[in-house]
Amino acid sequence: MPPEIAWHRLAGPVACVDVGGTKVAVAVADRQGVRAQRTEATAKSGTPMALAEQIQSLVDGCAHEAGLAPDGLLRVGVSSCGPFVLSQGLIELAAPNICGGLAGPARGLPNNWMSAPIEAPLRQRYRAVRVENDGIAALEAERRWGALRTQGAQGRALSHCAYVTWSTGIGVGLCVDGHVLRGKNGNAGHAGHMYVTSHGDALCGCGNVGDLEALVAGNAVARRFGAEGFTDAESLFAQARAGNVRALAIVDELAVTMGRMLYNITASLDLERISVGGSVFWHQRDLLLPRLQAELARHLPPLTRGCEVVAAGLGPQVGDYAALALVMD
Ligand SMILES: [Zn+2]
Repeated sequence: MPPEIAWHRLAGPVACVDVGGTKVAVAVADRQGVRAQRTEATAKSGTPMALAEQIQSLVDGCAHEAGLAPDGLLRVGVSSCGPFVLSQGLIELAAPNICGGLAGPARGLPNNWMSAPIEAPLRQRYRAVRVENDGIAALEAERRWGALRTQGAQGRALSHCAYVTWSTGIGVGLCVDGHVLRGKNGNAGHAGHMYVTSHGDALCGCGNVGDLEALVAGNAVARRFGAEGFTDAESLFAQARAGNVRALAIVDELAVTMGRMLYNITASLDLERISVGGSVFWHQRDLLLPRLQAELARHLPPLTRGCEVVAAGLGPQVGDYAALALVMD
């Protein structure tokens, strides 16, 4: 069920921007709700400014469609894949799936960018801009509308919580003592790249061998288990459900590895609730949720007791509300 959004509480029109490795999606909304939406394939050629220019053109196009001047937008919120680097204190994107200079020629990207400026050019054009990594933005959405709130009409956002996306990649957003953690470059929560093992069958897109994302993400299944006939996550889970003993053993292994990450962040941060979403988890949550809960509960009860693992309250739509959460009052 979509969340009830208090559009009437917006002080003015806002733009929500979602930057991913494959597409950039923009929406302009005001007190009446969403007024215009546009999506394009992520710009990856030309100068490093191409991505910011694409965002501006999509935002301005949406604003125009809604009958607004670009400088009439009160806020622009950007939820972007990471990692980020800072240049003079402002966020630039340094994602290996967009910036060809980082990935090297083997990746085949049509550019040699080391980073793509985002915040500086947008700040020149719009009144207020907030850029966050998509794990943090998704956490904000779950705290505002999803599972990271107390129950009831007077519900409030939890103070000690995390959102974990288990999808093609792994993303995390973290909140402790009521503060959403951002870190020195806005990269807090890149826990998908925490090291787990040195076993060589797991190469991550980031270059690590044996990090969490390389072991359990949706795109890891074909690479690790394709030779055994499990060509993607969907086929692996389908065969596990059909009673294939090997498939079930792999599912158990993936859940244990992910469950240990949940334990590690709980042990580090003393969390009260972790919400899990993302396409791999969401479609298999009946299999995965009890396994994640069991793995967390198996370790050091004084640290893990009182920390729940739950399915995302916004279900498969968490990402759709991430940028909006950055511009709401
Ligand atoms: Zn990695």
